[in-house]
Amino acid sequence: MKDARNMMRASTVFSALVFAFAAVLALAAFPVRAQQSADESILENLPEVLAVRVSSTDTRARLVVDLERVTAFSFVSLADPMAIAVDVRVRGLRVEEGGFPVGDEMISSYNLARLGADRVRTTLFLSAPMQVQQAYVLEPFDEQPARLVVDLIAETAQAFAERAARDLANAEQSAERATFVPDQPSNEPGTTLTATETRPLILIDPGHGGNDGGAETPDGIQEKTITLAFARKLQELLIATGHFDVALSRDDDRFLLLEQRVQLARENKADLFISIHADTFEDPTIRGASVYTRDEQASDVLDKVLAEQENKVDLLAGYELPQAEPAVVNILVDLMRRETRRQSFVAASFIVDQLKPSVRVRRFPLRRADFFVLQAPDVPSVLLELGFLSNASDEENLISPRWRERVAEAVARGIAQYFGE
Ligand SMILES: [Zn+2]
Repeated sequence: MKDARNMMRASTVFSALVFAFAAVLALAAFPVRAQQSADESILENLPEVLAVRVSSTDTRARLVVDLERVTAFSFVSLADPMAIAVDVRVRGLRVEEGGFPVGDEMISSYNLARLGADRVRTTLFLSAPMQVQQAYVLEPFDEQPARLVVDLIAETAQAFAERAARDLANAEQSAERATFVPDQPSNEPGTTLTATETRPLILIDPGHGGNDGGAETPDGIQEKTITLAFARKLQELLIATGHFDVALSRDDDRFLLLEQRVQLARENKADLFISIHADTFEDPTIRGASVYTRDEQASDVLDKVLAEQENKVDLLAGYELPQAEPAVVNILVDLMRRETRRQSFVAASFIVDQLKPSVRVRRFPLRRADFFVLQAPDVPSVLLELGFLSNASDEENLISPRWRERVAEAVARGIAQYFGE
């Protein structure tokens, strides 16, 4: 399925976002060259940093930089002291500069500072050697600003030392070039943007959230909690393959409109959107996992009920579903839709093939129904119903982290196959 990625990934927002590595590395190891030459109007148009957050578990760490708008970024490993510096191209910051303690097994502290006229650097001082596993920028949506997310994972001391040495060598090289050609503004903002290798972006969408708990077990365990736990596990597994950038539509207990979930996938040009759910049905014998793609004309009664249950969320929350798009006359859009639908079906098939031997699936697990959240015309989209909270065996599974991990492993395998990995 390599062609799927190439086709859908024709232009990505990320490719344009990353600085030429060398130019930024020059900044990493040497005092910042004066940037008076930076064009005032370019600077004015840059966003500001709104907030910076660092969090970590005992195996990973994450830096989130809230931004007014999407902007370019870069990162570099530094030795003595062991650190990873992350630069964003901005005109300033609305939070205080300075050092902030973290003090856990991964990050000892971080420092936030301006770097020249058009950059803010967050330096993460490491308690243990780590490397950047993935970094991506998300467009603003809802009340959330644009965000740079940088995920770090542990690496060996030797690998870290080699990486830091390589980064330093690159920096020296580009500094030399700058010396030989003094008139050439090698650090001039905007002159060094370049395409960089990108990985497919997978957007995992944990169903429900906030006031909308979704389905519920008799003991009051809510679907929104299960879907988030599953989504995080799936994200972790996909990231670990090294082949994907993986984002979540929500990483906490917040309410999102279905429309916003679709929008998020489209604005970020996700290569695959996968919405996670677990449902209930009046017949408690119905159980098993299934994978849906969208079909407005689907006729299966149970599928219809499930889709309606998922779709009515927005109405309950006091919002109207937006009108369906007016008849699309543009044949190209129609072709795109058709191709997206085909890709969605292929992705769903791969996932189902992996699920079958691992978990209990419904009879005909590959299904079609009119789920609103699957409507992006340009992002292959599937919806995974993990099982039924109205069935005792399924319920037991759904609340078990081990079962969820097994299912997430199967889904991750299916996704990897779809992308030809
Ligand atoms: Zn649901």
